[in-house]
Amino acid sequence: MGIFDTHAHYFKEDFGEELYGLLADLPNKNVERIMVIGCDIPTSEEQTALAEKYDYICAAAGIHPENIETLQSDWETRLREILKSPKIAALGEIGLDYHYENAPAREVQREVFVKQLELAEELDLPVVIHSRDACADTMEILREYKPRGVMHCFSYSAETAREVVSLGMYIGFTGVLTFKNAKKALSACAATPIDKLLLETDCPYMAPEPHRGERCDSSMIEFTAAKMAEIKGVSPNEMIDIANQNGRRLFFGEEDL
Ligand SMILES: [Zn+2]
Ligand SMILES: [Zn+2]
Repeated sequence: MGIFDTHAHYFKEDFGEELYGLLADLPNKNVERIMVIGCDIPTSEEQTALAEKYDYICAAAGIHPENIETLQSDWETRLREILKSPKIAALGEIGLDYHYENAPAREVQREVFVKQLELAEELDLPVVIHSRDACADTMEILREYKPRGVMHCFSYSAETAREVVSLGMYIGFTGVLTFKNAKKALSACAATPIDKLLLETDCPYMAPEPHRGERCDSSMIEFTAAKMAEIKGVSPNEMIDIANQNGRRLFFGEEDL
């Protein structure tokens, strides 16, 4: 098996005309599957259309907490429309982000998050959850809704990782795992059972070492996989296989090979 990058943003705005050549070439670089993720209505439409063009790409559509202030009143109707695509594998990314002082009001973030969790339940879709500096509120909502899904770019403690897993969810790690100051991510990764780990780039951001700061793409996941493999005591190829299988189980309900 090759790489399954479970969280990527291939926005035309970031990759320009190089985008199509890059996507055509990734399968030659051991990338077997990619899930592209929308963050609002326009990017959810864009990423879903991209998935419809490439066999090996699937999509998630949803409203990111940082984008709720520009939401139009018909967002839910439009999101439902996008989610009808046969290439949709999840609803996301959705969640809470209290990082910036001028972040959208917490109350409104929680409302839009919960609404999308309910929509995912109704449509029987897994969710891709984004949560930053909002651990307590996120966990409170997850305990109540117990969605099927992943907490991506995990940035909380080992203790929280254990609780997320006990709720039945998966945990995704990006290139952050390879950074020198990644102590917290390392211990959270160590605390997560190997059959609950997903690999992701969150590209174009979060390029792993030795590419930190560069524009990231899905082929760079091998550096994150190598670090994860070291933590879990398996070979990098085994780690890529196991994480791929975990992603297939979560997003496509596929049986383990
Ligand atoms: Zn995110
Ligand atoms: Zn993302």
